[in-house]
Amino acid sequence: MTKFVFDFAEGDRDQKDLLGGKGANLAEMTNLGLPVPPGFTITTEACRAYLAHGDEPAGMAREVSDHLAALERAMGRTLGDADDPLLVSVRSGAKFSMPGMMETVLNVGLNDTSVEGLARQAGDERFAWDSYRRLVQMFGATVLDIPAERFADALDDAKRAKGTKDDLDLDADDCRTLVDTYKGVVRDGTGRDFPQDPREQMDLAVRAVFSSWNSPRANVYRRQERIPADLGTAVSVCSMVFGNLGMDSGTGVAFTRDPSSGARGVYGDYLQNAQGEDVVAGIRNTLALAELERIDKTSYDQLIEIMTTLENHYRDLCDIEFTIERGKLWMLQTRVGKRTAAAAFTVATQLIDEGLIDADEALQRVTGAQLANLMFPRFDRDAEKELLTTGMNASPGAAVGAVVFDSRTAVRRAKAGEKVLLVRRETNPDDLDGMIAAEGVLTSRGGRTSHAAVVARGMGKTAVCGAEELEVDVKAKKITTDDGREVVEGDILSIDGTDGGVYLGEVPVVPSPVMTYFEGELDPDSDRADDLVRAVHRIMTHADASRRLRVRVNADTGDDAARARRFGAQGIGLCRTEHMFLGDRRELVEAVVLAETRDEREKSLAALLPLQIEDFTAILRAMEGLPVTIRLLDPPLHEFLPDLTELTVKVAIAQERGEDTTSDEELLTAVRRLHEQNPMLGLRGVRLGIAVPGLFAMQVRAITRAAATLAAEGVSVDPEIMVPLVGAVQELQAINAEIAEITSEPESQVDGKTVPYAVGTMIELPRAAITAAQIAESAEFFSFGTNDLTQTTWGFSRDDVESSFFSAYLETGIFGASPFESIDVEGVGYLVELATREGRKTRPDIQLGICGEHGGDPESVHFFHQAGLDYVSCSPFRIPIARLEAGRASGTAADD
Ligand code: PEP
Ligand code: MG
Repeated sequence: MTKFVFDFAEGDRDQKDLLGGKGANLAEMTNLGLPVPPGFTITTEACRAYLAHGDEPAGMAREVSDHLAALERAMGRTLGDADDPLLVSVRSGAKFSMPGMMETVLNVGLNDTSVEGLARQAGDERFAWDSYRRLVQMFGATVLDIPAERFADALDDAKRAKGTKDDLDLDADDCRTLVDTYKGVVRDGTGRDFPQDPREQMDLAVRAVFSSWNSPRANVYRRQERIPADLGTAVSVCSMVFGNLGMDSGTGVAFTRDPSSGARGVYGDYLQNAQGEDVVAGIRNTLALAELERIDKTSYDQLIEIMTTLENHYRDLCDIEFTIERGKLWMLQTRVGKRTAAAAFTVATQLIDEGLIDADEALQRVTGAQLANLMFPRFDRDAEKELLTTGMNASPGAAVGAVVFDSRTAVRRAKAGEKVLLVRRETNPDDLDGMIAAEGVLTSRGGRTSHAAVVARGMGKTAVCGAEELEVDVKAKKITTDDGREVVEGDILSIDGTDGGVYLGEVPVVPSPVMTYFEGELDPDSDRADDLVRAVHRIMTHADASRRLRVRVNADTGDDAARARRFGAQGIGLCRTEHMFLGDRRELVEAVVLAETRDEREKSLAALLPLQIEDFTAILRAMEGLPVTIRLLDPPLHEFLPDLTELTVKVAIAQERGEDTTSDEELLTAVRRLHEQNPMLGLRGVRLGIAVPGLFAMQVRAITRAAATLAAEGVSVDPEIMVPLVGAVQELQAINAEIAEITSEPESQVDGKTVPYAVGTMIELPRAAITAAQIAESAEFFSFGTNDLTQTTWGFSRDDVESSFFSAYLETGIFGASPFESIDVEGVGYLVELATREGRKTRPDIQLGICGEHGGDPESVHFFHQAGLDYVSCSPFRIPIARLEAGRASGTAADD
């Protein structure tokens, strides 16, 4: 038979699934011999049954009775007894901590009779009536659903009548009167009297705690924290100890180390003559925990000793709740404490030094998300600021600058030494220069994988996207908010890419020493490095030594490549070539696209060739000794041509004015011819290579000639030529044949020999994954393009869906995270595994990597490790995160 109730002495800390975090840790502390008031825990399984059927599972009531009877025997008192009542607290506790989201009821067992018994036993009438009024208040709000303000208002009235603001000034009579008032509130609110039967109180409180799992705020919190909605909460029923028995009593919370910096010491708050939530509720000013030493040295010393015991036992920073009842210390709760990113790293290395954990375990105590948090400059938290609006936190960091609305102005003003923020409705590849020049980017449309977000993250530039309350009028150069405030060009804004905040004016920024360290400008062994930098360095060193996955970078320029090397990149996994075709070169590309004869096209391609050779030489040189995957041109051609609508309008106006429009008309005809309804599914990738003869050939020529020249200089190069958007092996065969011809040209050779190179393909279409065994015959490597693979597997347009219906999908729980951010393991992940398996069948030594945005996402990195890939490739600023997570994945994976 299922067991629904466990005595505190029966469980342990590993039973969080069943007993909740609180129940499991109370059991652990009980078994450690720490002073925990006796009690029992009703399981999450009982809660799930209650929520499913609206009733307690069969057998639960009986088990509760047996445990209550045992508790009464142990305490020598009966629940709610008229002369010497046992009182209990009924507390919620789920597997994952959900602070303040669910309910707790204290002092259960008090009624009109037992309150007198309690007063006599304690020799303190005020205490008894104060406890009773607290019960009616908590029970009324939590169990009977009466708005909490009604009780709070009555308490305020009582204090006002007494001429005080402090609840301690209310005497026994005041509390007695307040109980009467509260009972009236209960009668008014529910049409019945406050229940006097102690067992009924307890049972109702247990059910209310079960139900509070589904309260709106608990639901919101779970969604935010990605806690599954079906776990349910456990309920701990604990014999009451009282912190409100006078000034020799009190209640407090404490951390075994500083949860914000990780520093060792005594951190916490204490409140004399107080109970339960009083400390966190802020009803009175608390004392620093260190003050307790003066107030009650014996309890303080015991508390410090217990904190040491807990740290040694949990081998981690713990937080605790305790109560002192007339000089006797009781432990009410402990758990491994939440902490800031900085504290996570610092504490992990302290614990290694203290011999409590080894380096492998330390690695599991930190996360890539925490590391990311430490890398970005940040706003001074204490500074005053005025919020304009909030958008999506698309790329972390803190940026301040004068608002500009177009790329040209951004570049011009930045050149003049001004800090600017580029504000757009959304960005496109034309805004690249402006984005580079700006401190940060703010858009009113688009999500976390919009162009602005992806590019900004790639550049390590702060971005807030999709700030929908802002009306961005690029022509009038102004932003208008919902409530009519205006920001015009030149006004200063501050944007926080970590939480999406947009502030008026300049908020002060503090730099990140961790970033300075990754840039190679701060020696972790020097005096300039602080504890945090030293801790990050130690953990990174261990991650690198532990990981199997290699980490490469997505980089398109020599500068990015050089930075990536400093950050620890082991090669380039994706060099996109489209950015090389913008700016001044756009006209040449336009000419290639519009050429009507082979000769015309060849001429424009010939003009592009030396420029591309320069591009590839810079990158191969910066990555000397490491592999460099260069992708042949991928985007739809229209991206290199003028916009159809703009050009149509331009021609119409010129015709109206009687101007000569011959050349624009020709252009317009071509733009119309190349216009596509779904360009992402149109003429792009390998299809371009086949439909526009000579285009890929020019790029391949540039790669192999750059490689040959460098090799002749003695520079070690390792180029990998990557063909995008392949769906069938025949496409790849056609390109391969072209490549083979080019590499036998003398300019691509040194001493009559072709410089070694590899040819492979991206796997970014479902058909490519499904036919991977065939494709592997013509590919020496696969690189999973999980951006397109997600787009094509789900049928989601990656440019549109995030800002249209993803929020609805996230809210309804259709997915927990955007599949463009974190790999969809069951769908897209399945295709990755399939192609891995099939590809290796054909070619056992095929090299496998991933270069979509997921390559820098912590959870996805763990998946790619398990899937058996050789490397992940991500934007430069996410390299340290990928290194760390790859190390962590090696530590946890079953296959290692
Ligand atoms: C991809 O599709 O995952 C990829 C890396 O290519 P892009 O984002 O350039 O389409
Ligand atoms: Mg792609």
